[in-house]
Amino acid sequence: MTTEEELANMSPEQLQELQKQNCIFCHIISGKVASKKIYEDDKVLAILDINPANPGHILLLIKEHYQVMPQIPDDEISYMFMVAKAISHACLKALKAQGTNIFIANGMIAGQKAPHFMLHIIPRANVDGIKIFDLPEKNIPDEVLEQIRAGLTNKINELLGIKTEEPIVLDKKPEEIETKSEKEKHEEEKIEEINKSKEKPKQEKSKDKKIVESKEEEEKPEIDLDDISNFIIKNEPKK
Ligand SMILES: [Zn+2]
Repeated sequence: MTTEEELANMSPEQLQELQKQNCIFCHIISGKVASKKIYEDDKVLAILDINPANPGHILLLIKEHYQVMPQIPDDEISYMFMVAKAISHACLKALKAQGTNIFIANGMIAGQKAPHFMLHIIPRANVDGIKIFDLPEKNIPDEVLEQIRAGLTNKINELLGIKTEEPIVLDKKPEEIETKSEKEKHEEEKIEEINKSKEKPKQEKSKDKKIVESKEEEEKPEIDLDDISNFIIKNEPKK
C-alpha cells in the first residue's frame, strides 16, 4: 500500500504510473481482465458495458491511460471520435437502433466513475426509459450570457493558437486601458462572479434533490482538469 506521505511526494509521472497499476480499464486493455470486445486496434478498444443503460451500450477506451480530456493529444482524441462515428453507425445498422447518445463524463464532478478516459455510445430506441439528457432549462440574464460568451471565446482562441487583434473586452469603459494579461485577469474575475451568482438560484430550490449534491460541490475545492494530482484514485472505481 502507498501511504499518504508517499502520495504527496510523488511526481505527476509517478502518480500516473500508480494509477495505471490500479486501473481496471488498463487491465481490460492489457487482457488481464476479460471483456466483451467489439473493436480493437493499436490506439483504442471498444467493449460492451457490463452494466448497460441499453443493450449495446459501448465503452470506447483510449489505450493509453489518460484520466480527462485535457491530457489527450489532439490526434488521439480525433481518432477516438472517428472510431465513435463508425461504432454509432454500426449501432444503427447492426442493432437497428433508432439513434445513439454519445457522451463523456469529463471529471468526477461530471459523473466520471473511473479515472480512465472513455466515450460512451448508447443505442437508443423510441421508448427505452433513459432520461440522462433530461436537462434543466435555466434562466440566465443576457448580460451574464454575454460575459460567458466573451470569456469562452477568448480562451478558445488562446487554446487553439488563434491570434486576435484585440481580445474581446467585457466593459467598454475608456478609462480602462489594460494590458492583455490584465484584461484576462479581469475576465477571470468576471467568470468567478458569474459562477457565484449561478449558485444562488440552486439554493432557493430547497426541495430539489440535487441541492444536496450542490452543497457537497460547494465544500469541495476547485478542481483543475489539467492537474493530474486531482485525479488520484481515492476510492475503488465502480467500473
Ligand atoms: Zn487506465
